[in-house]
Amino acid sequence: MALKLFNTRSRALEEIQPREPGRIGMYCCGPTVHNFAHIGNFRTFVSADLLRRYLQFKGLAVTHVMNITDVEDKIIKAVQSTGRKLRDYTGEYEAAFLQDFDALGCARPTHLPHATDYIPQIVSLIEKLVARGVAYRANDGSVYFSIEKYRGGGCRYGQLVNLNFEEMRVGERVSSDEYAKESVADFALWKARVPEDGEVFWPSPWGEGRPGWHIECSAMSMDLLGPSFDLHLGGEDLIFPHHEDEIAQSEGAGVQPPGQPFVKYWVHCAHLLVEGKKMAKSLGNFFTFRDLVAKGYTGREIRCLMIQAHYREQFNFTFEGLNAARANLARIDEFTTKLTELAQSAKGTPNDKILTQFANALDSDLNISGAWGIIFDWIRDTNRQIADNKLDSSQAASALATWEKLDSVLGLGAKPAAEAPLELLALLEERQSARKAKNFARSDAIRDELKAKGWQIEDTPKGPRLKKL
Ligand code: AMP
Ligand code: ZN
Repeated sequence: MALKLFNTRSRALEEIQPREPGRIGMYCCGPTVHNFAHIGNFRTFVSADLLRRYLQFKGLAVTHVMNITDVEDKIIKAVQSTGRKLRDYTGEYEAAFLQDFDALGCARPTHLPHATDYIPQIVSLIEKLVARGVAYRANDGSVYFSIEKYRGGGCRYGQLVNLNFEEMRVGERVSSDEYAKESVADFALWKARVPEDGEVFWPSPWGEGRPGWHIECSAMSMDLLGPSFDLHLGGEDLIFPHHEDEIAQSEGAGVQPPGQPFVKYWVHCAHLLVEGKKMAKSLGNFFTFRDLVAKGYTGREIRCLMIQAHYREQFNFTFEGLNAARANLARIDEFTTKLTELAQSAKGTPNDKILTQFANALDSDLNISGAWGIIFDWIRDTNRQIADNKLDSSQAASALATWEKLDSVLGLGAKPAAEAPLELLALLEERQSARKAKNFARSDAIRDELKAKGWQIEDTPKGPRLKKL
């Protein structure tokens, strides 16, 4: 069966047919690195990771791009209020983000481009838009996208959402990165330098300034995946204006081959709510990934919870749900431990029947609840065979191979011997940076400190890890 996903543009389930047979180009809007990412952000990234893993399970070669938004309105505000340098500030939150991302079992994207490394591509894209008459320079040196000119050229603004153009006043502008559907207006591609930007500016043909948020994603995605690519993901809040503007900027530049859209399939992940409400600091229900870790939950447990609900359903986070996910994961770990003991060194081939049922469920718009139903029925049946002493070593090895294949999609990974606390993982990162900078005195001191705390650094092909002494 072929994978079908809900395409936001057609508002229908569509069979995924890669533009190039066997290959998928996929872009997911990444984090804005101005703070620690919250569990809602991670729901979107874990969903993107699940899709990427499933595409690979189906034998497709996936080029997965996730950008790092390291310059936009919120970041500039934060940089100004702290008096720190842009890269210094964003670098810290980016490192924290990637640590959490790894702890959640998300596979690193093929490319992790930074917006600030793409200024030449951004400028060149804006130049194309200006040359084609769909962008204009305002008196202050900012450049705006003209919705009227774009529509006048026969292009459609409003591919992902219905917009009321009657209420729109031609030429009205919006300079902030975030705005609502009601205030649809010409949006900023390049923002002229203002005193509040401090040291954050670059030269451009229109004067000093910085890019708007939306153009960053158009420039990075098309540079790395080509002007027309397969899949674009993000949280549902990004549908308007961010993704609508991405389409306008990318298609407005006229760089796609004739008849091909900027993006073939738009996939959006519904929001995560906490105890039924939108997450807000004022409600006291706002959790970063780190908040949950501090309460004693592991990345695997949190992932296990996040991959329980369908990506298009609003997901209601509760501690009751997280505890249930913890229990499910413990059941899985117990199951794989028993299988490993029984299999000894036997080798087995996966159970095709289970894998086919699992794939049939996921082919239907990533129906993860259906997939879990199949997994837990199979675990129950296999456990029964184990209890009746009816599972020999080769059958156990086959069950283990089946689990490994299923887990290549679920991404829960093996139960680690013991998980090091986050502050020690941060020390390990610092040691890596010290080594890179040839600061061996510092790197040795960190090694000794970790040892004193009972952890040993172990070098693995995937990089250094902490092992309990
Ligand atoms: P940001 O770092 O704000 O740019 O957001 C990163 C990603 O998280 C985007 O794809 C957002 O759409 C997504 N996102 C933000 N809030 C939530 C939420 N409560 N639930 C799910 N995804 C979210
Ligand atoms: Zn984006």
